[in-house]
Amino acid sequence: MEARANTGQKGARGGQQAAPPAAAAAPPAHPAYDLVSQDFVQEYGAATALYRHRKSGAEVLSVQIDDDNKVFGVTFRTPPEDSSGVPHILEHSVLCGSRKFPTKEPFVELLKGSLQTFLNAFTYPDRTCYPVASQNTKDFYNLIHVYLDAVLFPRAASDPLVMQQEGWHYELEDPAQPLAYKGVVFNEMKGVYSSPDALHGRARKQALFPDNTYGVDSGGDPQDIPNLTYDYFQAFHRRFYHPANSRVYFYGDDAVPERLELLDEYLREFDAADADPAASAIQWQKKRGAPWRHSARFPARADAARAHMVSVNWLLNDAPLTPRDKLTLSILNNLLVGNSAAVVRKALTDSGLGASVIGGGLSDELLQATWGIGLKGVAPEKVDEVEALILSTLAKCAEEGFEVSASMGHVEVASLELNSHDIWLYGGSPTEALHFEAPLAALKADLAAGVPVFQNLVKELLIDNGHRVTLEMQPDVGYEAETEAREKSKLEAVKASMTAQDIADVIAATKSLKDAQAREDSAEARAMLPTLALADLDKSVKTTPIDIGQVDGVTVVSHALPSSGILYADVGMDMTGIPLSEYPLLGLFSRLLLESGAGARDRVELSRHINTHTGGVYCSTVTGTRAGANGAVAAPDDVVGYLFLRGKAVSAKTPELLSIIRSVVREARLDSQQRAVEILKEMKARLEASVVGSGHSFAATRIDSRHALEPYLNEIGGGLSSLATVKANLAAAEEDWPALLARLEELRAAIFKRDNLIINLTGDQGVLDAAEQPVRDFIASMPESASVLAPASGAGWAKEAQFSPIRNEGFIVPTQVNYVGKGGRLFEPGEKAPGSFQVVSRYLRTGYLWDNVRVMGGAYGGFCNFNPTLGLFSFLSYRDPNLAKTLDVYDACADYLGDVHLTQEELERGVIGTIGAMDAPQSADARGFTSFKRYLVGITDEQRQRVRDEVLATTKADFAAFGDRLRAFNGSARAAVVGSRAALEAANEGRAGDAAFHVEDV
Ligand SMILES: [Zn+2]
Repeated sequence: MEARANTGQKGARGGQQAAPPAAAAAPPAHPAYDLVSQDFVQEYGAATALYRHRKSGAEVLSVQIDDDNKVFGVTFRTPPEDSSGVPHILEHSVLCGSRKFPTKEPFVELLKGSLQTFLNAFTYPDRTCYPVASQNTKDFYNLIHVYLDAVLFPRAASDPLVMQQEGWHYELEDPAQPLAYKGVVFNEMKGVYSSPDALHGRARKQALFPDNTYGVDSGGDPQDIPNLTYDYFQAFHRRFYHPANSRVYFYGDDAVPERLELLDEYLREFDAADADPAASAIQWQKKRGAPWRHSARFPARADAARAHMVSVNWLLNDAPLTPRDKLTLSILNNLLVGNSAAVVRKALTDSGLGASVIGGGLSDELLQATWGIGLKGVAPEKVDEVEALILSTLAKCAEEGFEVSASMGHVEVASLELNSHDIWLYGGSPTEALHFEAPLAALKADLAAGVPVFQNLVKELLIDNGHRVTLEMQPDVGYEAETEAREKSKLEAVKASMTAQDIADVIAATKSLKDAQAREDSAEARAMLPTLALADLDKSVKTTPIDIGQVDGVTVVSHALPSSGILYADVGMDMTGIPLSEYPLLGLFSRLLLESGAGARDRVELSRHINTHTGGVYCSTVTGTRAGANGAVAAPDDVVGYLFLRGKAVSAKTPELLSIIRSVVREARLDSQQRAVEILKEMKARLEASVVGSGHSFAATRIDSRHALEPYLNEIGGGLSSLATVKANLAAAEEDWPALLARLEELRAAIFKRDNLIINLTGDQGVLDAAEQPVRDFIASMPESASVLAPASGAGWAKEAQFSPIRNEGFIVPTQVNYVGKGGRLFEPGEKAPGSFQVVSRYLRTGYLWDNVRVMGGAYGGFCNFNPTLGLFSFLSYRDPNLAKTLDVYDACADYLGDVHLTQEELERGVIGTIGAMDAPQSADARGFTSFKRYLVGITDEQRQRVRDEVLATTKADFAAFGDRLRAFNGSARAAVVGSRAALEAANEGRAGDAAFHVEDV
């Protein structure tokens, strides 16, 4: 609950030609509110009205639009004064029970049993947001009730146990034990502070904003979190969680008067006079006049002690930007760093000075925008060269200008897909940013008149801007050990200073927190939560239109879905004819296809061409397992595998889009050794970083890869073992490039032929009709098969696959937290995995695992994965301070299910939550592609309906049956852990034979 994410607002919209609905002329009035302004946003077909709640002073933006995925959000400005993480801890804490909904965690109950399509909370550097979304109006209003009561009347405001659980507390159960820190946010942030990229991002923000609130960490620095007192926490809530300091947002097709009435029920208890919104206004960071340098450290493995990170960063503005500025800036950013051929990104990767680009360019989601770019994996003596290269490249841009058309296609499509209302918070108009057509037209006119818009901007914002900091992050092999030792000695000092009475108090407090956590919510408290009934659910599965045709022997699948005039095209090629040994090379192959030039166009020209005509073209691989007969668990080797070139463009550009894909398929150059080396270095750096940051997904893939071919492919293609392959390929690219190139050419010959081709199209019916002839031309131009290979099938791959025989595996990374996984086969191929097991699996995730691994264990997350197609199941934890203890929780799960006490209401909630997850809304292109993937593996709507029926018919007996399965599976399940050396060594004490972890360094 910290990072920012899309709130799912990009659903269907009214379209470009929509006339203002009658409601736009006169927004509904409500006696409790003043209407401040109204607007009709032609671009999205949305009627908006801004209200001010008279008594409380809250501002409410109401958007009426033809979209059934309704969104509500309440945001408070919460600028922190220190790095104790108080906004972040408060964000977690308000979700732990409130006046009207006194269960321990109503938020979790909602996750379990609502049709929510989005439900989360986010702490930004200056604000805290609580968004929810649902397609069901009754459910939507239930969610809003729970959220409003939570933020305005939380239990956390009067019960210190909440802050202890979510923030931090001392833990001690026996006077002889060492004192320890525990807390959900404390552990979450320890994980964040183990990630070099996250540390770089934080150091960068803190360096750029030395004087305002952005200079501290709203998430919390684990060293500072224990400085937070309950008094300060309470006062922070009182001060900032007042309606007058909030912005409320409604979006969707529900009735405006109902929104206003519901909201007034809560707001009427507050008086604007009691708040001081000015206290939360963000102070502008004044720009400095001369550049400076800053350095910080990050944890590194021993073999990476010379891999520094360097970035050059600017604060762009200390006064508000106009919509025109923002638009121009985002295009400039695209020109500089938007893709691998963009000027600055290319200069950095081509320089060979580092392993991969960091910094990401423009960041404009706060009051002030920043821009920064750099490299990681830089030798210490090359640091100055990186800085000089960035500056000289920008100077060259200012002098020589840009190929501007190269970004317009991208901007055109992005504008149609865009949605944002951030600036409202800083006093701007909440709907201004939605009107993109006027500033876009003005910009196009300036460009047509020859105004050097972008050159001027580079000069003004970057070259002549003295508020520039060069940040050097220095690797420190001893960082983790030092951090741990510092925490240990601090805790020892605290304990030494305690009297016997203090120690007794801490033990008593530990016990009372544990007791409170273990206590079940009363039936009365649970009954307070609003919920849907099974009768409110849609019994039928949601289907997507699909049309399957043939053109010259090639299958063309299409989905007529509203797409605002954009065509989404997926060109797939069966790749199961390649040898399994070459599978790990596909990552490099698919990058080189788009990043080494094609035909007469070099890499930069190809990239420009793509961005001029399309909204982007990218390459990806898709694997799947063919569904078993009659919905039974699939044969583990029956896989499909495709390499896709996927692109999008406005309808008129369909011929150009397909011509680009044809050019890439037929003529991609592949032969740039330098580019191959750069890509492999970058892949290596990315893999290393994501193992540290997302070890749970690597552990999950590792576990499943022992049982079936599809996860095995994921493992060798992008899992833990792929790191060694990437290193080997890098050595091959550097030392024997001709041999590696020959292998890449063989891949091309084996994959790119007409026999392997399949096409998937998504768009408005008119867009699809217009694509028909270009698609015919495209197919006719594809190369005929040069050779006759054996018919494509994954069966050959299965013979080559070597599944790991090791039972328990441990992978050491530099981190303070662990990712603990354990799993295996729950159902044999041919058996039926009932749909009801999805309900049980979800129930475990939001119940047993949440309570035991997260709430009591102190991990940031505890999950489980049930794969009904393959019959596989695994437990996982995320940023977990424990290891062996978490495995014990997993092992005890079977017994827990054996005598679980489940009320009918809880059972129904589990069913509702599962259905809600199945019905999650998707954008048009995602819907079309999901439907296509089902077609590829043979999942029919009838089978999906059968699963839905089984989910709806779930009974308590299914929970016990799941427990029986788990008990049988416990003996054969295997563990995979990504974690610290200390934790794995400790876990191995007392483990012998194949129970011990086979440990290796990543
Ligand atoms: Zn969090």
